[in-house]
Amino acid sequence: MQARARAVAPYSGFPVGAALLARSGQIVSGANVESVSYGLTCCAERVALFKALTDGVRDIQAIAVVARYRHGPTPCGACRQLLMEFAPEALVLLADSARPKHYRQYSVKELLPESFSDWRSKAKRRRAASEG
Ligand SMILES: [Zn+2]
Repeated sequence: MQARARAVAPYSGFPVGAALLARSGQIVSGANVESVSYGLTCCAERVALFKALTDGVRDIQAIAVVARYRHGPTPCGACRQLLMEFAPEALVLLADSARPKHYRQYSVKELLPESFSDWRSKAKRRRAASEG
């Protein structure tokens, strides 16, 4: 909710806040940032994730995403892909800012089944198995 208050969303009027929780207990937040050139806009989830990664925060356990959206917003495809790559074990908590204590909870895998990183890790497992 605090991150959402810092969103830069003058075009959509749809502020979104996200906060990642690392195993260390560190919380990294982000909010959506929009550009006059709409395609450069970045989602709250990715802002938080990029901040965490570039600050050396790993082992992300959970991400909360909040916006004024019935039952809470769901991450877009790009955010789902990045969460699968960098926070595959995270719980994803989605809440409507009007009722933030009533959140939905998903695993990243539920949100992005059969993902590209699945293919990569399967290939890695196959290589490890063939190497004995
Ligand atoms: Zn997104």
